[in-house]
Amino acid sequence: MTEPREHQVIIIGSGPAGLTAAIYAARANMAPLCVEGFSAGGLIPGGQLMFTSDVENFPGFPNHVSGQELMARMREQAEKQGTELVTEDVSKLDLSSRPFKVWVGEDSSGLYLAKTVILATGARANYIGLASEERLKNKGVSACAVCDGPLYKGREVFVVGGGDSAMEEASYLAGICSRVTLVHRRDEFRASRAMQERVKGNPKIEILYSHVVTEVLDVSQGKVTAVQVKDLKTGIERQLACAALFVAIGHTPLTDLVKGQLELADNGYVRITRPGSTYTSVPGVFAAGDVADWVYRQAVTAAGTGCMAALDAERWLALEGH
Ligand code: NAP
Repeated sequence: MTEPREHQVIIIGSGPAGLTAAIYAARANMAPLCVEGFSAGGLIPGGQLMFTSDVENFPGFPNHVSGQELMARMREQAEKQGTELVTEDVSKLDLSSRPFKVWVGEDSSGLYLAKTVILATGARANYIGLASEERLKNKGVSACAVCDGPLYKGREVFVVGGGDSAMEEASYLAGICSRVTLVHRRDEFRASRAMQERVKGNPKIEILYSHVVTEVLDVSQGKVTAVQVKDLKTGIERQLACAALFVAIGHTPLTDLVKGQLELADNGYVRITRPGSTYTSVPGVFAAGDVADWVYRQAVTAAGTGCMAALDAERWLALEGH
């Protein structure tokens, strides 16, 4: 069997970070291979923006752009510049020696070799952790209003969370559903003021402060019929009818592939070892986007670090003489 070709750079992930890295690497004549993913970590090619409706803060789109359209444009641009895209998940990664080894496919059937790797695997949505929530995922429990909201058109739904994502989901759902109840565990939201005001001013959204969801019903029917909520101040629990529960309580970085191989920060995100760069603890491996960013987590910052990662990889290759 012939040895696989050694790529100058393999980019793992195809959100704004991965695709921007691909655009820059392609323009630098690095012939990048981008493993864009398939379904690993609950994400699809294009990443989290595929679950976002209107993006109003990405520069260059004064009349907003849908997350899907933005990602389709980035993908097209990366491809036009010469990126080779592989629509598979990376199943295994070996960063212990160079060339780095990247296996793709469920059975690790495809092996690619790389002089440099740009990790842009992003982060995925968190869930509350209830057994009933798990059982009813995709049967009324969702972490993506844009994907699943239209299924509950004209029905009553719940959203849990107090950050910008929860505000965004609640506002979006209020445009489709008859009523939205937003459940938050504290008395105040952490979301930006503008997003909060949008929710508070929406007559279709009711807010339950200091409440948590303790159960999702009804597993026996195989669909969501109600949620059980607990008032944290009184301890009283009650069941409230609804057709769906949208969970918007933050994210977890997708680092399974690199655990034990790359240094991670205490919160589990990839540690950037040289401030102001995308360098990781392994020379030749760079991290971009949400997998290494728990502070900004924006499409535009992910794109920015994707650009940095491609430039870092290009310069590292030149300096190291590989
Ligand atoms: P986040 O800001 O971390 O907020 C998570 C929320 O979920 C918090 O309110 C938290 O409550 C709550 N929570 C966490 N674990 C929980 C649990 N087990 N049970 C119940 N509630 C729980 O996450 P995010 O809203 O996904 O936002 C992430 C980042 O993306 C932020 O920087 C945000 O600004 C940004 N973002 C921006 C936009 C936009 O600008 N269009 C849209 C979406 C997200 P506590 O507050 O009590 O901790």
